[in-house]
Amino acid sequence: MSPTVPRIVMKFGGTSVADLDRIRAVAEKVRKQVEAGCEVAVVVSAMSGVTNRLVGYCRDLSATHDEREYDAVVSTGEQVTSGLLAIALQKLGINARSWLGWQIPLRTDNAHGKARIESIDGIALIESMRAGQVPVVAGFQGIGEDGRITTLGRGGSDTSAVALAAALKADRCDIYTDVDGIYTTDPRIVTKARKLDRITYEEMLELASVGAKVLQTRSVELAMKERVRVQVLSSFNDGPAPSEGHLPGSLVVDEDEIVEQEQVAGIAYSRDEAKVSVRQLPDRPGIAAAVFGPLADANVNVDMIVQSTGDDGMTNMTFTVGKADLARAIAVLESTHATTRYAELQTDDSVVKISVVGVGMRSHAGVASTMFRTLAERNINVQVISTSEIKVSVLIASEYTELAVRALHTAYGLDAA
Ligand code: ADP
Ligand code: ASP
Ligand code: MG
Repeated sequence: MSPTVPRIVMKFGGTSVADLDRIRAVAEKVRKQVEAGCEVAVVVSAMSGVTNRLVGYCRDLSATHDEREYDAVVSTGEQVTSGLLAIALQKLGINARSWLGWQIPLRTDNAHGKARIESIDGIALIESMRAGQVPVVAGFQGIGEDGRITTLGRGGSDTSAVALAAALKADRCDIYTDVDGIYTTDPRIVTKARKLDRITYEEMLELASVGAKVLQTRSVELAMKERVRVQVLSSFNDGPAPSEGHLPGSLVVDEDEIVEQEQVAGIAYSRDEAKVSVRQLPDRPGIAAAVFGPLADANVNVDMIVQSTGDDGMTNMTFTVGKADLARAIAVLESTHATTRYAELQTDDSVVKISVVGVGMRSHAGVASTMFRTLAERNINVQVISTSEIKVSVLIASEYTELAVRALHTAYGLDAA
């Protein structure tokens, strides 16, 4: 086999394989790529809605279910689609075969429900591709050190695809979804969102980590580390089969591949956080450690933090935790009361975190002040602020999500013409 045969990983998300018609359409897309002379490995998600249903079953039976059994249940969605797509491909005369995580094997750690990939043995897959077969890999799943099925966290098929592309030394990892690329913000809430031809790994990583669900954060992290070329594109429109030089979607690339760098690349929002305020704590050295240490010990991730101190020797701590961790966070904080002696604990889960991201922030001042002014003009109160080198985030009331994202999108000059 000539070493110049391009090798592509094609990943299809839940809406792309939502029913048999969609699976037939995906099979056609794969066929085009095979007929264009590529070696192709496919990664599939579960049919849309299926993972949510399976997660719901586990939660309804027991709020404290065994995570190993959760993985045994929720990983089945991808098993179904990998088999169905293999059948649809075979119907088109393509030699296709389904692969589950343990069959590859794709090895992970033992963190059931949010496992990390440790290694992928690409040999069997490469041999099958060399023999003219199209492997159809069940995304989102692997095999843990305990020999049991693991899953990679919600949205994890993106990470399966990127990891596979790295292991197979693929020329590109194409992530097919229900939008035709990466936009300046979620095109479902801002109709003027603009499609980006290219975005840097760094910006995409930051956008994903603050809520842009188009790629799972770990997939971007891995792509950046392994230098995998990732393209996001639509499985719904029938454009020509993508070929290098003319890519229909958005490419995630190194900074030096971007000609004109905007100040702000994009805006993301996350409704996954809740606000916690611990009021009237004694303002003494060690009080922050007394609050946050036990939360960390209980595996509760804390994101944004503000501390405001009065003249009365008392201080308030306000911070955010994942909504899924809120109940646990409250229990932990209540258990620290004997040492922290706070007067009041308040929580609010009707909040949204809005973030603006751009590597241009390193060299441009004023990004944060534009954000605050724009929100003030709309009478939107900022509750918590946090910043990093290429990001500014604010926490606001969730009812203002769309209004705030649209106003900021316009303020940073991101609107499509
Ligand atoms: P899949 O099921 O294919 O994995 P996801 O729902 O996980 O698809 O991701 C695609 C969705 O991501 C889009 O439908 C869109 O609403 C959302 N999204 C959020 N931010 C962005 C963005 N900046 N660009 C494109 N899509 C975005
Ligand atoms: N089916 C899994 C989920 O819904 C993984 C994925 O689609 O990426 O989270
Ligand atoms: Mg996804």
